[in-house]
Amino acid sequence: FKPSQAPQPPAKPNRSKSEHVKTELAQVVVDAKTGRSYCKGKLLGKGGFARCYEMTDLANNKMYAVKVIPQSRVSKPHQREKIINEIELHKSLQHKHVVKFSHHFEDQDNIYIFLELCSRKSLAHIWKARHTLTDPEVRYYLKQIISALKYLHNKGILHRDLKLGNFFVNENMDLRLGDFGLAAKLETFEQRKKTICGTPNYLAPEVLNRRGHGTESDVWSLGCVMYTLLCGNPPFETLDLKETYKCIKEVRYSLPQSLTPSAQKLISAVLQKDPSERLTLDQILAHEYFTKGFTPEKLPPSSCVMMPELNP
Ligand code: ADP
Repeated sequence: FKPSQAPQPPAKPNRSKSEHVKTELAQVVVDAKTGRSYCKGKLLGKGGFARCYEMTDLANNKMYAVKVIPQSRVSKPHQREKIINEIELHKSLQHKHVVKFSHHFEDQDNIYIFLELCSRKSLAHIWKARHTLTDPEVRYYLKQIISALKYLHNKGILHRDLKLGNFFVNENMDLRLGDFGLAAKLETFEQRKKTICGTPNYLAPEVLNRRGHGTESDVWSLGCVMYTLLCGNPPFETLDLKETYKCIKEVRYSLPQSLTPSAQKLISAVLQKDPSERLTLDQILAHEYFTKGFTPEKLPPSSCVMMPELNP
């Protein structure tokens, strides 16, 4: 195979011998059922359960982002169920702004989930480099997020963990919504589980007040995402988690005067305490923030690290 797919350089000397041998052995992964071999490339990132690697199908050089979950992390039935839920749910999704699920298999050591590779990582990485984005960029990304979210909600699925790190960006600067680890089928108000799963970033007041998570709670998170991209910091952030939760429940946040009036109006119409008073996804798209401002067709890749010059 090509030099870029050649095994990585030997492990650093401070690694233990067994660790060294293990990484060397795991350089090629084989799906026993199909006989296909995949060569492990660079580490893309680490998550709660998984490490995510670039992997190349040795038969056709196709590259994937592969979530590798050690069997040891899913030895308890409820842990395994969570991963199976994520796989089954993600498998059923097909939309141009949702990370494409390719296939999965397992061996003695790991479960492997093959996903569309998003080479520019996520909005979290872009946000780290840029701190704040311009209104046209925010409109560009939000429109794609809303398109994916409308698709999910129409299928009766809630994402429940919308955050910058779950908005992936591919080589072509297209946004893809991913990570369905906390996603669930929408239930009636009575059926809703009132527990808070994991530590989602942008929790809505009704979720904190144990009234359960509805489509409106995803919309709340979207408002927090918009705020963070435009202001450079999340709307509700204090040194103490309890204090943060108090601010969320009271919807206590400040809107910097540096934001355009239409951005301020849209954020405050989305960050409404009462879910029934919050804008819907269609109302957000019909808001003057979108209708009166220009949205670029495409963003230049340089905008991942530098403010772009965009002309309507
Ligand atoms: P978590 O949701 O716990 O943060 P994930 O297992 O979903 O973790 O992802 C871990 C990391 O792998 C992410 O932070 C991201 O950088 C990277 N990653 C996940 N999916 C992809 C993908 N499709 N393309 C590129 N990188 C990805």
